[in-house]
Amino acid sequence: AMGLHQGWGRAWASPAPRKRYKVVIVGAGGHGLATAYYLGKNHGITDVAVIEKGWLGGGNTGRNTTIIRSNYLQDPSAAIYDKALKLYETLSQDLNYNVMFSPRGLIMLAQTEHEVRGYRRTVNANHLQGVATRWIDPAELKRLVPIIEIGGPRYPVLGGLYQERGGTARHDAVAWGYARACSDMGMHIIQNCAVTGVDTAGGRVRAVETAKGRIECDSLAMVVAGHSSVLAGMAGFRLPIESIALQALVSEPIKPCLDVVVMANTVHGYLSQSDKGEMVIGGGTDGFVNYTQRGSWHHVEETVRALIETFPMLSRLKMLRQWGGIVDMTGDRSPILSRTPVEGIYVNCGWGTGGFKAIPGSGWAMAELVAKGTPGPLAAPFGLERFAEGRFIDESVAAGVAH
Ligand code: FAD
Repeated sequence: AMGLHQGWGRAWASPAPRKRYKVVIVGAGGHGLATAYYLGKNHGITDVAVIEKGWLGGGNTGRNTTIIRSNYLQDPSAAIYDKALKLYETLSQDLNYNVMFSPRGLIMLAQTEHEVRGYRRTVNANHLQGVATRWIDPAELKRLVPIIEIGGPRYPVLGGLYQERGGTARHDAVAWGYARACSDMGMHIIQNCAVTGVDTAGGRVRAVETAKGRIECDSLAMVVAGHSSVLAGMAGFRLPIESIALQALVSEPIKPCLDVVVMANTVHGYLSQSDKGEMVIGGGTDGFVNYTQRGSWHHVEETVRALIETFPMLSRLKMLRQWGGIVDMTGDRSPILSRTPVEGIYVNCGWGTGGFKAIPGSGWAMAELVAKGTPGPLAAPFGLERFAEGRFIDESVAAGVAH
């Protein structure tokens, strides 16, 4: 049967870089590739190169726990995350590539009175924003999540914030689907090509220096997540970003026993079951700024210990793999989609621990910003100037610990 699987064409081309492009995007993660895709699809701009120092999707896009939801508190967040969720709903058809979007439902557990108040407030905010979420009581929660221990000794489950449209998607497929579509539009995806310098003159971008030579451009989009400050430094400006490793792990595969995503933010852990049967478990960020793209033992223990109280069955599972990604954290836990002090340079970063879910919406908004030179309604609230103005979009409850 394997004999039939021969002669497959490459999903995307691997061209040598040209000397010049209208738009250069640094970073072939989900956000960079989605930016390229919507530049072509929505704005007719296909003279685009996406430059990646490793392999496409090898950054946080291929390292996350794939949670998708749009139940944020602030209006600008709800707008961009819900745009992303709506695009996810039809992304497989749009890209003609199965991204395995699975709207299986997502529950954020309330395990303290404070969380009950917080999540009830979020439900009210979501109703005003047109984002369907609802509060569920412990009995309904137990019906939806039979493996949960409702009456835990320290943190009994008091209810939950439920978004039925939330869920997961296959993270690699999202990157691969966008990459193939971009390549089909004639864009260049250049892998194994680190950007090592940014050339500016008269306050304007001219070119990037790369491992494969100098590449000139009219516009430069920096979409490099945890390395955003490094790239900004090359162009001579600073970003209000801290880079920190965030870790996750998976268990051995077991029979299907969990068909929703559950997040327990008080004890700080969350889980879903993958199509292969593994329990996909997310933990927290390291307690210090670092660029260490790997897991560490104490995180496995801390995360699993925290979850076992609420999900006792986890105590009998072996853990298979752990890993880390470098996430880009802002002070208000909201992203940055913005012009910069250098004319022609735009940044898309600050998605921190929760940007996988935003990929289509972020790419849509970033493409508009790059194509027009000014932000559209989705990106406008997320400009860099908000940090100088003190106009924070505080999502520390919805995004500070959760993903
Ligand atoms: P990346 O995918 O990191 O892409 C940036 C790319 O830039 C990388 O491929 C990198 O190699 C490249 N790059 C960097 N420097 C250079 C250079 N100098 N030259 C060329 N290329 C360069 N989000 C969710 O919504 N749900 C979740 O459940 C979730 N869980 C997570 C769990 C973990 C363990 C981690 C680490 C993250 C999680 N996230 C989650 C966050 C999410 O993964 C990120 O916000 C998102 O993937 C960021 O995508 P990106 O395209 O901006 O960055």
